[in-house]
Amino acid sequence: MAKTPTKAKRKRAPKTFGLEKAGVVYARLAADRPDPHTELNFVNPYTLVVAVALSAQATDVGVNKATKGLFEIADTPEKMLALGLAGVESHVKTIGLWRNKAKNVIALSQMLLDDFGGTVPQTREDLILLPGVGRKTANVVLNEAFGQPTIAVDTHIFRVSNRTGLAPGKDPDQVEQSLERTTPDAYKLGAHHWLILHGRYTCTARKPKCWDCCIRDMCKFKDKTPDPAKTSSLGPKGPG
Ligand code: SF4
Repeated sequence: MAKTPTKAKRKRAPKTFGLEKAGVVYARLAADRPDPHTELNFVNPYTLVVAVALSAQATDVGVNKATKGLFEIADTPEKMLALGLAGVESHVKTIGLWRNKAKNVIALSQMLLDDFGGTVPQTREDLILLPGVGRKTANVVLNEAFGQPTIAVDTHIFRVSNRTGLAPGKDPDQVEQSLERTTPDAYKLGAHHWLILHGRYTCTARKPKCWDCCIRDMCKFKDKTPDPAKTSSLGPKGPG
């Protein structure tokens, strides 16, 4: 008798905060930063694509310094192509991986002109066709430039989601899926910004400022940093 085929093992999605509990987290983060936006400077959707593509493994402050002069003379694909590869390189030399990034800026500008009539597409499928644009960059552009409720998981969001237990995951894709499940619709547009800013300024990679954190009582992180004001250097081993 033929054996019944074994059922494929069903992968269980990581346990997230429920919608209600996540709603409380977002409400507190939103109260801390009522109108959050990306800290990258841009003047239109095109310059946002360029800025985000330049920002991989670089700080927003560093990218802003480089793009200040660049966007003054090249804020459209046509003007960027007129500037040429050497021209772009001369502006972005201070940013890590600049040679490759400059090539991508030229190539994506060319593709925008050739395939999209010079405008930035408004779907993830089209955006990720552009050289140097991955899922994370596409999600940032869709959210910030076009007001779509996407969540781009960067290093800060990955850390905050896992530490707190809000939306755990082994990799950025899994965290993105967890966040999509557990983020109430009312907070989906701002979630990306609130989580990034919380990770950048409060839930930092080293020594998170747990004593000053608005979601401390809900956070599952075991090694919370104690309040430095209460752990005076004049402890048992201090002078005296
Ligand atoms: S309590 Fe600490 S670890 Fe938890 S979210 Fe706040 S800063 Fe991060």
